[in-house]
Amino acid sequence: MTQLFSDKTRPVHLGPYPLERLARLSEPPLSAPPPMNRLDFHRLETPHSLVNAMGEYQAMMDAIREGLVNSVTSEIPQDKTERSNHLKAFGYFNDASMVGIGTLEKGMHLAAALRNPDIDRLAKDLRTRQTKTLAAGIDMIMADLKESVEATPTNIDSHTHVIVYLYEHNRTPDMSEPGAEWLEDAQDHRACLRATETSCVIANYLRLLGYSARSHSRTTSDIDLNKAAVAAGLAYVENGQLVAPYLGTGFGVAAVTTDMALATDAALSPEQPYLKTHGPTWWVGKHSAKSALNRDPYRKRRYVDGAQSFERLKRVDTPTTYIDEPNVARVPKRADMFARAQFGDMGKINQKNATGGYYVRKSAPSMAQRRALGAFVLLQDGDPSQGPRPDDARRNAENVKAASYFLGVDAVGISRCPDWAWYSHDAAGAEINPPHDQAISMIIDQGFETMEGASGDDWISVAQSMRAYLRFSLLGGVIAKQIRNLGYKAKAHSVMDGEVLQPPLLLLSGLGEVSRIGEVILNPYLGPRLKSGVVTTDMPMAHDKPIDFGLQTFCESCNKCARECPSGAITAGPKLMFNGYEIWKSDSQKCATYRIGTEGGAMCGRCMKTCPWNLEGLFSEAPARWAAMHIPSAAPILAKWDDKLKHGSLNPVKKWWWDLEIQSDGHYAPTDKPVNARDLQPDLDLKYEDQTLAVYPAPIAPHPWPYPFPMDREAGIRAYEAMIPADRYKAALAAGDR
Ligand code: SF4
Ligand code: SF4
Repeated sequence: MTQLFSDKTRPVHLGPYPLERLARLSEPPLSAPPPMNRLDFHRLETPHSLVNAMGEYQAMMDAIREGLVNSVTSEIPQDKTERSNHLKAFGYFNDASMVGIGTLEKGMHLAAALRNPDIDRLAKDLRTRQTKTLAAGIDMIMADLKESVEATPTNIDSHTHVIVYLYEHNRTPDMSEPGAEWLEDAQDHRACLRATETSCVIANYLRLLGYSARSHSRTTSDIDLNKAAVAAGLAYVENGQLVAPYLGTGFGVAAVTTDMALATDAALSPEQPYLKTHGPTWWVGKHSAKSALNRDPYRKRRYVDGAQSFERLKRVDTPTTYIDEPNVARVPKRADMFARAQFGDMGKINQKNATGGYYVRKSAPSMAQRRALGAFVLLQDGDPSQGPRPDDARRNAENVKAASYFLGVDAVGISRCPDWAWYSHDAAGAEINPPHDQAISMIIDQGFETMEGASGDDWISVAQSMRAYLRFSLLGGVIAKQIRNLGYKAKAHSVMDGEVLQPPLLLLSGLGEVSRIGEVILNPYLGPRLKSGVVTTDMPMAHDKPIDFGLQTFCESCNKCARECPSGAITAGPKLMFNGYEIWKSDSQKCATYRIGTEGGAMCGRCMKTCPWNLEGLFSEAPARWAAMHIPSAAPILAKWDDKLKHGSLNPVKKWWWDLEIQSDGHYAPTDKPVNARDLQPDLDLKYEDQTLAVYPAPIAPHPWPYPFPMDREAGIRAYEAMIPADRYKAALAAGDR
């Protein structure tokens, strides 16, 4: 994963590969690409293949590739290059390897459009599937899906441009490596799935902005994607094969066609100046994040181990923060602050800002992600098949981990799923009787590059969260489906519909430690810049152990997140016992109120952005990380050094998004409010004794039902003052006082 040079001066739209160094043609290329083949997601002869589990998700994305176009066109820049740069950057934000834009020629249209036959099967199946997700707006999602499936496809004659998103293959799994059992011949399907996620979201984005747009995949398309890749300057033809620079033949693409006028890329020359493109600067990554050294994180690593050196972390028997397991208080899902805001517990203004997910709708990129996120709710649970029910726990764990990393999850850990990790009641108020006792915790990186350009609480913040939530819903959902295909029960717990508390499961599975931010678990390689998701199951699996990388000492010597939090929600004080957990308990009410209500942006993740553990992943950062992990006494110096280096400040080179806000008629226009653009405030001396924080532990938590339960902030403040440190708590427990 070594990256020798920072790419902080490289704009996001250029992407991780130095495509600007490639030789391009002034005329269309002479050689025609091979015709596009349809991908089939059915492996009946190998029911354990991961390809089978991907099929339902691919069909769902194909089903929502089209949709209503906003009747009012949004106010966006007129400059075609600015638009193209923006849409490319959006693709890179979604982890595309390469993005190119071409003119949509009639010769690109398929004689007969390709339509995924699984769409109809899926729609039929969903009509009979009962879900427990009433509170997640299931009716709305079903209506949307029905409309998409039954709509008569319009033609794309009005479309003038094609945006192509290319996703590279990493090393092809060796069938003898641990965990590769499900991964045979799945590279094309994985790349197709990942590319379709992006094309689906961006087609929806363009429609929200008032432009006609449709997503095209290797399973459902009106155009030949091979021709599109050539026209968009991403690939050339060599010996009858499609070749992408730096990648060769190992990649997959999806595309968006649109009537938005865009600047285009010239086609690639089949003869590239090798020394310029593949010389020493490519080898060391002088001009780009990707280089010959780090292009494929799995080149020398086994999939089962992940891309980072997780095997080097110190493992311990119990988490580094105390959990009083027998006395953890289970609370209803209704206690979640966003639910409380929606039901009016936090007053009328918060209710207005939270109703119908306004904080998501108000920003166009997040609203574009919301549709697929909603659609995936329908797939995240289901009945197990009559599968083989493999019972070798070690092998199952290896297969789960290797498959998750192969798909693109950033970190995976496996643990038990104790009853106390489940909410007491679901979103509709029904009691939860924990159905599964095993948990697969996953984390998704929110991405350093966009975070670097952001204030943390500006107009991209909500899309940063939603991007990671969507990625988990897709990849975690595929893993859950795979387990059900093998005959076990499994459910992916997504942000839209989850029944477990994720932080304790992340701790048990060794994905991080408790941080000062509060409920955020911090990972040594990603910092707090992550979103999590959990798959629960009854499939037996070997468990991972918790980790200890010295974070408790570090956070005791650092309070940068508390200092930089715009709402003052993070404690500058000690860890205290809350509902049976020892944590730095933040004031979730303040945090949620700010995230839902800030007018200078949409949501917030400023604590994640400014934390010293939010690193670019450079080779030069490794010594500081090593010192932070191994020399606890160095923590105060490292925290001060981080401030001196201005880590966590704004880098305008990385800002690619537009500060658009939804208007009363539903279109998007530049916001008329001052945009949050904070810089660090190292001179602020935040004192615990000056903070007034509130918490709502189990005794004052709301009832489980979906109607109001007004918040009593005074009671919350008293509850904060009544919390005690873990040592006093343990002493009281020993004395029988609790
Ligand atoms: Fe923003 Fe909440 Fe983090 Fe504070 S605690 S920085 S309000 S997300
Ligand atoms: Fe811990 Fe400092 Fe990061 Fe806050 S900013 S989570 S105190 S390391």
